[in-house]
Amino acid sequence: MSKHVVILGGGLAGLSCGYELVQRGHRVTILEREAHVGGMASSFIEDGEEYWTQDFGPHRFHSQDQNLIEHVRDILGDNVVTAQRLSRIVMFNKFFHYPLVASNALKNMPRHLVVKALLDYAWVRFLDSTRLRRFSDRDFESWVTRRFGKTLYRLFFGQYTEKAWGLHPSKISSDWASQRITLLNLWDTIKKTLQRPDAGDTPRTLVRSFIYPKYGGIGELPRGYARRIEESGTGSQVLTNAPAVRIHRDGMRVTGIEYGKHKRLMIDADEYVSTIPVTALAKALAPRAPDHLIQKVNALEYVSIVFVYLKLNRPSVSPDSWVYLPEKHLTIHRISEFKNFSPYCAPKDKTMICAEITCRRGDEIWRASAERLQEIAEKDLMSVGLIGPGEVLEAQIRKIPFAYPVYDLDYRDNLQPVMDYVHGLENIRTTGRQGNFRYNNMDQSVEMGRKLGLELATGESTDHDKVATGKEYFG
Ligand SMILES: Cc1cc2nc3c(=O)[nH]c(=O)nc-3n(C[C@H](O)[C@H](O)[C@H](O)COP(=O)(O)OP(=O)(O)OC[C@H]3O[C@@H](n4cnc5c(N)ncnc54)[C@H](O)[C@@H]3O)c2cc1C
Repeated sequence: MSKHVVILGGGLAGLSCGYELVQRGHRVTILEREAHVGGMASSFIEDGEEYWTQDFGPHRFHSQDQNLIEHVRDILGDNVVTAQRLSRIVMFNKFFHYPLVASNALKNMPRHLVVKALLDYAWVRFLDSTRLRRFSDRDFESWVTRRFGKTLYRLFFGQYTEKAWGLHPSKISSDWASQRITLLNLWDTIKKTLQRPDAGDTPRTLVRSFIYPKYGGIGELPRGYARRIEESGTGSQVLTNAPAVRIHRDGMRVTGIEYGKHKRLMIDADEYVSTIPVTALAKALAPRAPDHLIQKVNALEYVSIVFVYLKLNRPSVSPDSWVYLPEKHLTIHRISEFKNFSPYCAPKDKTMICAEITCRRGDEIWRASAERLQEIAEKDLMSVGLIGPGEVLEAQIRKIPFAYPVYDLDYRDNLQPVMDYVHGLENIRTTGRQGNFRYNNMDQSVEMGRKLGLELATGESTDHDKVATGKEYFG
C-alpha cells in the first residue's frame, strides 16, 4: 500500500530518501527551509551576459562504491565532467602538497624546521614505542602529536584546526582526528604517497579523479533528485521556503508538522523523516522535550561558515581544486576555485575564488559587513601572493549556520541522550549529516538517505544508521 512520507530538509539525505520512496510508488512531501534545494551541496547560478556557478566551498563527490557512482551519473545524465583533484597547503609563501608528500615538504620547509620535525618525530615514536611516556588519545592535539611529532602537529595540523574550528585542539575530541586523518603516522603518509593513486584501497584524501557536473555546480545533483521526485507521477512535492517550525506530537508519536515562513500550515503523514539538525528537531517538539534534554541540546555546538566569493579578472589563480591556508596571521583557512572542478563554472578569461572563514552564529565575523569580509579575504590572498591589487571585479557573501558539528570533549555525553530521546519517537526517523550530528560527506548522506528510503518503502532493515560510522569512510 502506498504511504505518504513527510521529509524535513531538502539536502542530499532528504532528497535521496524521497527519490527511493517515489521509485516504489510512495508519495513524499519534502519541506525545505531555504528558497532552493541542496542544503550544503547547493549551487548558485548566474546566467546573464556571463555564466558563473558557486558552491559552498569545494564539493568533490567521491565514493569507493561503484554502484553509488553509477547512480549519481544516472541522476546527472550527460551533464558530467571528470576532474582531477589537486589540493595543496600554502605556508611560508610556498605550496605543499596535501596530503603531505615527503620530498615536496622537505624541499619547501625551512631547513631548521625539517631537522626539528624529523628529530621530534623520532623522539615521539621512541617514547611511544618504548612506553616511556603515556600518550593520551583523548584530544586532537595529543592524538596528532603522538603520530606526527610536535613540530608537524604545530605547522600542519594544530594552527589549521584551531582556525577552522575556533577551538583549541586540546579541547577537540580525537574522534575528529581519527575520522579525518586516514594516515596513521608520518611513515604511513610517505608510503601512501608513493603508491599509485586511485588504487582500490586508496584513502579518500588521496583519490585524484572525481566526477562533477559540467554545468550548474554540485547543486545539479540535488536539483536532479528534486526533478525526478516531482515528475514521478506519485503526487509528490518538494516545497521550498517551507521551514518546519513545530513538530506536534501525542506522547512519543508525531501527529503533524507545522511549517511555513509567513503563513503557518499543517501537514500530516503516515511516516516522517528528519534531516534537519537534530538539535533543531528536539527543540521544535510540541509539547516541549524535558528541560534536562534541552540543556544537553544547548550544549551541542555547530561551526558556521562565511563564504566570500571573489570574481577575478584573470583566467586562473592556481590549478588546485582547493588550497588550505593554515597560518595564524590569515583569517581565511581555505580557498577553492570552481573552474578546477568544471572549466564551465566561469567565463574563459575570468575565474572565481571562494574563501572560507569559520565562525559562530552571531559573532563578529558572522555579523561583519560584506565590505569588511571582502577586505579580509582580499588582504589575506594578496599577502600570500595568490592575487594582486585591483584584480577583484565583484564580491558576494553567503553563510551556512550549521556547517560542522563541534566534536568537543563532552559532545558524546551531550549527544547520546538527545539521540536516544529522538530515536524514542515512534514514527519519525532522523538521518543525514545534520540529523546524526555526524561529520560525513555527500556520498554518505546519499547512502543514508537511499537506505532509509528503501527501508521505509519495503519494511526491511537496511542499517542506514551504520553509514559513516566506520573510520574507513573518512579522510
Ligand atoms: C564547506 C564544505 C565543504 C564540503 N566539501 C565536501 C566535499 O568535498 N565532498 C563531500 O562529499 N562532502 C563535502 N561536504 C559535506 C556535504 O556538503 C554534506 O555531507 C552533505 O551535503 C550533507 O547533506 P545532508 O542532506 O545530510 O545535510 P544538509 O545539506 O545540511 O541538508 C539539510 C537540509 O535541511 C534544511 N533545513 C534545516 N532546518 C530546516 C527546517 N527547520 N525546516 C526545513 N528544512 C530545514 C537545510 O536548509 C538543508 O537543506 C562539505 C561541506 C561543507 C560545509
